[in-house]
Amino acid sequence: MKKTALITGSSRGIGAATAIALAEAGYAVCMNYIEQQEKAEALVKTLREKGHTAICFQADVADASAVQAMVKHAREELGQISLLVNNAGVAGQIQFQDITPEAWNRMFSVNLGGCFNCTQAVLPDMLNAHEGCIINVSSIWGSHGASCEVAYSCTKHAIIGLTRSLAAELAPTGIRVNCVAPGVIDTDMVKVLGEETLTMLAQEIPLGRLGKPKEIADTIVHLASATYTTGQVFSVDGGFIL
Ligand code: NAP
Repeated sequence: MKKTALITGSSRGIGAATAIALAEAGYAVCMNYIEQQEKAEALVKTLREKGHTAICFQADVADASAVQAMVKHAREELGQISLLVNNAGVAGQIQFQDITPEAWNRMFSVNLGGCFNCTQAVLPDMLNAHEGCIINVSSIWGSHGASCEVAYSCTKHAIIGLTRSLAAELAPTGIRVNCVAPGVIDTDMVKVLGEETLTMLAQEIPLGRLGKPKEIADTIVHLASATYTTGQVFSVDGGFIL
């Protein structure tokens, strides 16, 4: 029987590439989205046409009860989740003094709270099985400061703290927790910066280009089978932060 992976925020971008890569690696995948139902369903269809096992489920990862319903559905349709990829995230450029308390709290609820809700929802089965793998998606701004992205950077720093602490706590149970820290990856999230800024950024990156979603997905697939690796943060950033 196939192992089951839940990838949050997988209707597009890094999450979609990860769902494809994990399906190709033999996982049954439960994809997740908040708004882009058509994109999620189109990817499910494509994966099924290729003979893979895939479903998708709408849930706001910031909503604990919606996440519980998603995990219950995935478990009933595909079997218990052995790999969780906490990928769903939101970003935004704004000066610190202009961040409203609501926007600050929302970013924490999605980026960090999503990891909390999803991890708590899948853990009982993983603890019962004495195995499991959790991969969190942070950012290079999770270890370095980012001007005009203070809230985002704080959430991504916290995700690295979550990864290391939870890895220490769960290691005796056989559950591994790791983290990927992407650099500038060519997705909708960075397209809002505009072509001119992205061209300038590409020139600053030692490998001379933005990353591709598949390049993050490949690292996630690697970590899923790296059975002696836990509590680690893997930068995939073209050498941006050296
Ligand atoms: P993206 O293209 O903007 O896609 C975001 C995905 O997250 C979409 O599938 C979106 O669903 C989903 N999502 C957003 N809020 C959600 C919520 N509350 N509940 C459930 N799903 C939600 O982003 P991306 O660039 O692929 O980024 C993926 C992850 O990588 C994020 O955690 C991001 O912080 C991190 N990252 C990205 C970069 C980069 O340069 N792109 C760099 C470092 C880290 P809908 O399609 O339904 O809206």
